Amino acid sequence: MEKLKVLVVDDEPGIRSGVVRILKNYTIGFPFMEEDFSFDIIEAETGEIALEIIENEGADIVLLDNKLPGIQGIDVLEKISKMRIDTAVMMITSYASLDIAVKATNFGAYNFVPKPFTPDELKSSIENISKHLFLKRMTSAMKEEGKQIRFQFLSVLSHELKSPLNAIEGYLKIMEEKQVGENIDDYMSMIDRSMVRIKGMRNLIIDMLDLTRLESGKKKRKLHEVEIHQLATLAIDTIKPMAIQHNITIKPDIDESIVMEADHDELEIIFNNLLSNAVKYNRDGGEVRISIQKINNVVTLTVSDTGIGISDDDLPKLFEEFSRIKNSDTRNISGTGLGLSITKKMVELYNGTITVDSKPNFGTTFTVKMPI
Ligand code: ATP
Ligand code: MG
Repeated sequence: MEKLKVLVVDDEPGIRSGVVRILKNYTIGFPFMEEDFSFDIIEAETGEIALEIIENEGADIVLLDNKLPGIQGIDVLEKISKMRIDTAVMMITSYASLDIAVKATNFGAYNFVPKPFTPDELKSSIENISKHLFLKRMTSAMKEEGKQIRFQFLSVLSHELKSPLNAIEGYLKIMEEKQVGENIDDYMSMIDRSMVRIKGMRNLIIDMLDLTRLESGKKKRKLHEVEIHQLATLAIDTIKPMAIQHNITIKPDIDESIVMEADHDELEIIFNNLLSNAVKYNRDGGEVRISIQKINNVVTLTVSDTGIGISDDDLPKLFEEFSRIKNSDTRNISGTGLGLSITKKMVELYNGTITVDSKPNFGTTFTVKMPI
């Protein structure tokens, strides 16, 4: 459990002990946080003491009364704002004149709690401010790591999950209210469509996890000798059910002797993505050729299909995250647009390259080269 340090600055002992009582056993959690927050409370009866505490020990949240015996709350706030520290200040005040409110906002006060406040009012203010602090810190941490991209991911992820969730919720409502009658068969298509949506969400989440693990360097690589032929066979078996549905033939041409020092899972992701695209963006009755050869200590993998192809205009953005080509051919094919960006990152872990060659309505060939 993570602790946030709350400094209560008020000359009335009753207010301070009230805050301690309310927050002592209070914890909050948000779905996007790994750990819950609880609170350590420090008390200060004057602004002077508060500033000393902030300077020496720091504080995450300051609950600051404006009317204090010595230096006033608003002046304490001004000094805090000049320290350029990561502290969120909330003013407690019984008569916040407009003047003070404007000043406080200019000095970066997060918000105001009127005095007297109920336990629930305090808790909900603390909840908001904690969320604000958490997000702010997360964003700046990511920026520092040069990983704004992950923040962007979070927003895209939540956006991408919203529409399937809404759809499923809609179907469930219809069923809950038995809008189409008592016969369960009449609801089957809704159940099917919900299943498809759930599958899409699951794929999205798996892709995102692969990608964030990769980006954050958290994914532990397990390198050992991998028999490429065996791995490719596994990948082909995985995609076969989908190929059969569309009457697509898979033709492998794989050198059986290739052994490569690699992480099995990483190579599997590369193979799975290229093969699934080759089947997904093919035509019914089409063909997928997969060839793996070793030439001059470079493993060369090519996956060719007889599918819809990609126009020259669309080629440049192919390997970007969430990039999907939208046209009448792809409209009914589902995907998240993450597969190729993940594949490219995986290939680069092996100092390899991935290239694509394509002709619309004719087919596409992806070529991966990885030095051994
Ligand atoms: P997923 O993340 O589920 O793989 P996706 O297949 O849409 O989703 P990518 O694999 O990254 O995402 O591919 C990006 C886009 O490139 C696809 O949406 C598709 O338009 C195009 N594309 C990829 N492979 C092929 C292919 N073999 N033939 C034609 N278009 C392709
Ligand atoms: Mg794909």
